[in-house]
Amino acid sequence: MSEVSVTKNAEGPAPAGDQLVVLDNVNKHFGALHVLQDIDLTINRGEVVVVIGPSGSGKSTLCRTINRLETVDSGSIAIDGKPLPQEGRELARLRADVGMVFQSFNLFAHKTVLENVMLGQIKVRKTDKAEAAKKARALLDRVGVGTQADKYPAQLSGGQQQRVAIARALAMDPKVMLFDEPTSALDPEMINEVLDVMQQLARDGMTMVVVTHEMGFARSAANRVVFMADGRIIEEAEPNQFFNNPRSDRAKDFLSKIL
Ligand code: ADP
Ligand code: MG
Repeated sequence: MSEVSVTKNAEGPAPAGDQLVVLDNVNKHFGALHVLQDIDLTINRGEVVVVIGPSGSGKSTLCRTINRLETVDSGSIAIDGKPLPQEGRELARLRADVGMVFQSFNLFAHKTVLENVMLGQIKVRKTDKAEAAKKARALLDRVGVGTQADKYPAQLSGGQQQRVAIARALAMDPKVMLFDEPTSALDPEMINEVLDVMQQLARDGMTMVVVTHEMGFARSAANRVVFMADGRIIEEAEPNQFFNNPRSDRAKDFLSKIL
């Protein structure tokens, strides 16, 4: 009866002003490997989209193209109605609207936790130092590591470091946050403290794209699940429907292996 829905949620297409990230027929190769194939994806303001799929399916590359860490071969990407340019000052500005949190926390090892969260504000947003420090402390409190502000990253647990990385990204006032397997490098007992922060962020209305293997998070936080395989979006659905009644054989096969 129904076709696999692409870029539409249950209420139908959102009005243009609600479309925050729009990928239109994006293609990318790494040499002979066609890593992103005809990707059409629209992420609406306030939406939480969880991207899942087998290793090597192109999930990280998809995230990296959205903030232009990777170029694309064809197609277009727009953030809040503005096409991502190839380079230049406008690119830096648009990129600052896209926060990114990686599996490896990528904090600056020789800066304190507080300085890590201040740096982008000062360098990119041109915020003055006192203001940046104030905001950094507030964000560190928000993610539950306020008491760690004067320590160095190596003195923190993995879960604490990842929460600092989230605070650092939030300090730029991003319009959308991308998370690429943010809990995959963590010891099991630290996974929930990071997922809880992300869950709260979602409740606060942040627009989020989350690559994760945490299906509990996908079920409870996602508005939509995007399933990728071999560089393509195979299926998109609301989480209950996706997990209870996947349409494609690829998704069924994937879910049978992980659930
Ligand atoms: P996923 O995140 O879903 O595991 P990736 O986006 O990391 O997948 O990778 C998709 C494919 O592209 C994989 O086959 C990977 O080996 C390849 N790939 C990723 N980055 C590069 C790169 N910089 N150069 C060449 N191949 C790459
Ligand atoms: Mg990946």
